[in-house]
Amino acid sequence: MKEILCKKCETKLPNGNSVCPNCGSKSKLYKVTITDSAIFTENFGIKQKVKGFKNFMVEFISRHKSSGDMKKYPEGVIEERRIDKKNKTYYQKVIDKKTGKVTHFENESLLKHKD
Ligand SMILES: [Zn+2]
Repeated sequence: MKEILCKKCETKLPNGNSVCPNCGSKSKLYKVTITDSAIFTENFGIKQKVKGFKNFMVEFISRHKSSGDMKKYPEGVIEERRIDKKNKTYYQKVIDKKTGKVTHFENESLLKHKD
């Protein structure tokens, strides 16, 4: 969900409004809410980089891809993956795009996980 507010008075601005109708300010505040149930329609990835961790500390990826089994999953799958080096956890969820059912789920210690 995306909301655009006036940065000065926090009046909700309608789509495309460049000037606040309340105070005339041109500064904008973007509020973006991401919930667990959100389904991304595009590929999406976040990497949190922190000094002391190689490459990244937390990586989150959500991607659409075709399945190896086109008969079973004709519309492909959505893969969600989170690698958390700080808490040493590996999380992976694969969802059938057609039915929304989870076809693969892993949530385990990063130390035990092998690709
Ligand atoms: Zn305003």
